[in-house]
Amino acid sequence: MKRLYITTAIPYVNASPHVGFALEAVQADCLARFFRASGYDVFFASGTDENSLKNVQAAETEGISTQKLVDKYAKQFFDLRDALNLTYDVFNRTSSKHHFKGAQKLWNQCRKEDIYKKKYRGLYCIGCEVFYKPDEIIDNRCPDGHNTIEEVEEENYFFRLSNYADFLYKLIEKDKLKIIPQTRKNEVLSFIKQGLEDFSISRSYARARGWGVPVPSFAEASEDKQVMYVWFDALATYLTALGYPSDGLYKKYWSNNPNRLHIIGKGIIRFHAVYWPAMLASAGISLPTAEFVHGYITVEGQKISKSIGNTIDPFALVKKYGVGPVRYYLLREIPAWGDGDFSESRFRELYNGELANGLGNLTARVARLCSDTNLSLPQKKNFKFKKAVSDNLKIYRFDQALIALWDDVSALDRKINDEKPWELEGAKLKKVITPIAQEIREIAFNLSPFLPTTSEKILSQFTGKISAEKPLFPRI
Ligand SMILES: [Zn+2]
Repeated sequence: MKRLYITTAIPYVNASPHVGFALEAVQADCLARFFRASGYDVFFASGTDENSLKNVQAAETEGISTQKLVDKYAKQFFDLRDALNLTYDVFNRTSSKHHFKGAQKLWNQCRKEDIYKKKYRGLYCIGCEVFYKPDEIIDNRCPDGHNTIEEVEEENYFFRLSNYADFLYKLIEKDKLKIIPQTRKNEVLSFIKQGLEDFSISRSYARARGWGVPVPSFAEASEDKQVMYVWFDALATYLTALGYPSDGLYKKYWSNNPNRLHIIGKGIIRFHAVYWPAMLASAGISLPTAEFVHGYITVEGQKISKSIGNTIDPFALVKKYGVGPVRYYLLREIPAWGDGDFSESRFRELYNGELANGLGNLTARVARLCSDTNLSLPQKKNFKFKKAVSDNLKIYRFDQALIALWDDVSALDRKINDEKPWELEGAKLKKVITPIAQEIREIAFNLSPFLPTTSEKILSQFTGKISAEKPLFPRI
């Protein structure tokens, strides 16, 4: 059986989840469901990044301990599982003991000559958890707009990334690590071409306020204690989610599985396509084989920001409209390969136009006609994905897959209008309506990775004796 390991990135837990992470979680879930239904043995991992300095600061602001803070927000991210109907197999928290063990093991496995200590002075943005060059900081703000810059001088451990420039360039150029979309691949290649600098992989215990994964050789020492730079430890989640350093799942879904896919946002591509494969190569561990990079969501045309107060709460959205319409909006309306916008008026427009009037109305119409003629369909198990759905999902074009499926919904609507089955009765009606009801089931099956609950409802309505039921999507 073919295998697939699929991961979301792990968000910081210094605030409640917003719609941007919901997009990534739903995309990953859609793929996990699609590949499972296509016969793959899928392992799907999500989790939270809890060792960041951001979390320490947020806890100070809220006046609670860092552990309390990460527990509180990690639970909200965990609760997205039910709210968004996600099917991940493991939710990996990086403040857990087993993650510490795995991150330390990874550090120890890196080639000795790749990790060295040096005195360093630089401008560190806590918002990004990244060092910037002086000319990248304008008016005390980082390129991402944070004003959380501090000047740091300390002796840290560094990773010899400069050793890996040629290796990484070839790896990505030849698609051994396949980056989709192509524009993102080009971006990484040109970044590597500019030359790679070694990066700091630890910080002082004091600067980290004692929070984080201790650097292994210093874990016991009282002086000069260091904790891992948050990216070194956070990236290790993709291994520790599989139980690494224990074998079991790690062997099955990482070392012995040729399909290792990370789903990430465009802002963290450098860490995933440059730092991470270099760290793994140094440690003699297999690399990811594919990375899908999605864009960002704006809200009514504006960047999502806590200070503007325009964050969209995915829980509230699901409560108001139901999980199906939320998944539909994210997968259908946000361009899979680019940036997209969330707007409540567009949400309602799509809901009424494509769900209530489109799929919902079609299903109700056909169910009524089937019920008029007492139509019964036997159970069907060997459904197949339509080519347009399958081809698009294999390249992560969720939007195109749904547009193609909705072309089929419209085509079926037109067919009914042409054949006018409501003017027929008895055997004639049955003859016309049977293939239409069968096609509804095909559409429902194809919908299963996107809107699993709706898909199940339609399949169960159109199996056995078919009767009219409550509308799938009441108009709003
Ligand atoms: Zn920043």
